[in-house]
Amino acid sequence: SLLIIEKLKEEIKKVGLEDHAMVHLTGCFGFCAMGPIVKVYPDNVFYVHVKPDDAEEIVNSHIARNEVVERLLFEEPALDYKKVQKHEDMQFYKKQLRVALRNCGHINPEDISEYIANDGYLALAKCLEEMTPQGVIDEMKKSGLRGRGGAGFPTGLKWAAAAENPRLNGHKYIVCNADEGDPGAFMDRSLLEGDPHSVLEAMAIAGYATDSDMGYIYIRAEYPLAIERLKIAIAQAEEAGVLGENILGTGFNFKIELKYGAGAFVCGEGTALIKSIEGNRGEPIVNKYFPTEHGLWQAPTTVNNVEIFGNIPAIINKGADWFASFGTEDSKGTKVFALGGKVNNVGLVEVPMGTTLREIVYEIGGGIPGGKEFKAVQTGGPSGGCISSKDLDTPIDFKSLASIGSMMGSGGMLVLDETDCMVDISKFFLEFTVDESCGKCTPCRIGNRRLLEILNKICRGNGTEEDLVNLKSLATIIKNTSLCGLGKCAPNPVLSTLNCFYDEYLAHVKDKK
Ligand code: SF4
Repeated sequence: SLLIIEKLKEEIKKVGLEDHAMVHLTGCFGFCAMGPIVKVYPDNVFYVHVKPDDAEEIVNSHIARNEVVERLLFEEPALDYKKVQKHEDMQFYKKQLRVALRNCGHINPEDISEYIANDGYLALAKCLEEMTPQGVIDEMKKSGLRGRGGAGFPTGLKWAAAAENPRLNGHKYIVCNADEGDPGAFMDRSLLEGDPHSVLEAMAIAGYATDSDMGYIYIRAEYPLAIERLKIAIAQAEEAGVLGENILGTGFNFKIELKYGAGAFVCGEGTALIKSIEGNRGEPIVNKYFPTEHGLWQAPTTVNNVEIFGNIPAIINKGADWFASFGTEDSKGTKVFALGGKVNNVGLVEVPMGTTLREIVYEIGGGIPGGKEFKAVQTGGPSGGCISSKDLDTPIDFKSLASIGSMMGSGGMLVLDETDCMVDISKFFLEFTVDESCGKCTPCRIGNRRLLEILNKICRGNGTEEDLVNLKSLATIIKNTSLCGLGKCAPNPVLSTLNCFYDEYLAHVKDKK
């Protein structure tokens, strides 16, 4: 991408249009299968699979003579491979509703003035100047916004609990969980890379609502671009007076610091994350208190994930009723998914809650490559479960996914086709969680390893039907007795594939005694 930008700048200079045309790097457009993407404004023309050598033609034809470069346009299969110019006309974007991702691919994430020009920091100003902290919390409750990282806890209730508890030693904290670790998930990374200011603004709003003075973004050290852009955004926000001391002259103080995670999946769990920020080993603890009572250094702490924060400025600006008008009865708003695997349109998608899996896979995702049969979708990564073709019309919301044995999780969505072996898939995810177990409690440390041994035996062709019975009973015990979410959910891929694809397990063990 950087090479394409350099070439575009060079070519613009060559034709003497450097005072009329600007080239900016943006965050992700979401349509990863078509990248690198170049969008030309104000014409709104969307070029796909752009290479550095295409820069000359884009500049000479489009920028200099206003002639669209046909060969670089997207071919819409749904329109019999007709070329389309605008992203709004593409099937991939038509069913999407971009709230958390509203600025990704649209603004230069390294320039606060572009964020401000798109209503940036307006929500913070509205909260500080027109709303009471309780008013902000009421708006969150009314919006129906729920956690996007796993359990789906209502955000307004969490903020209300934090607001009720007094500061400890003068401090109360807001933590942004950016420790995205599911294999195949890249929602948080894209949002932070494409729109870092929205997360900073939302954290400051949360700070105001809960009377917190300090925020930490706990981010994986493996996300160097997101870290770089967050550093730039924090410095720009402090300079602009929307972060730090006496924000917008209102007397409200709120600072944000980055803390780097070392890549342990378990640190995405709330108590482990808090321990890690404190400088301790990132291990979950049995905590009889919620972090909103005793969190970071025992002070009240509100932990929300990146996607939650991405939604908040839009909710304040447009109102809770606007946000609650999307989605289903118990799941309001939108959800971002990393759509990957055996699907034509791999990418980052944001859809209203209640959109069906069929719409995501076949309309947004463009179906299965090579005309193959859909077999299943794994949602929620290594903690989630499989959804088979019989549930393709299930609306994607918290309740419906739980009712079919899967979960929203953080938003990984892996599509599998007829050639995939579901026993191998469950083994793949279990290997990941066995590697990532912190080892603190026996059911997860030993139990998941035994579970994997049985799966390995089955995959090698040495398994028996008795092993299938043991697999199910051991998975159930681990689920019920592990200490934290990682161990409790680790057997989900095994249990859900046993439930939906028992015949495949049976085929592996048939004729064995
Ligand atoms: Fe550690 Fe696993 Fe126990 Fe969680 S369930 S505390 S990751 S050993």
